[in-house]
Amino acid sequence: MFRPGPDKDEMRQAKKVRGFKRRKICRFCQNKMNIIDYKDIEILQTFITERGKIIPRRISGTCAKHQRALSAAIKRSRQIALMPFLSD
Ligand SMILES: [Zn+2]
Repeated sequence: MFRPGPDKDEMRQAKKVRGFKRRKICRFCQNKMNIIDYKDIEILQTFITERGKIIPRRISGTCAKHQRALSAAIKRSRQIALMPFLSD
């Protein structure tokens, strides 16, 4: 019996789909927020995973400046128990 292997066009398409993601812009720059409030857990929560990890810059799209401010804010709010540390 004749069994066809992976089609060339099929392979090309799979590559295309996996390929690119739209480049995101830093949300804080967008809103012209220069100070990230560590008490604003609603904002901070959007930048951590369910397990409490800080979402890396390449995924969230946050710029270097704001990512630094953000992680500082998250760490501060952890200290005063507004935000969770890593939890399983
Ligand atoms: Zn920014």
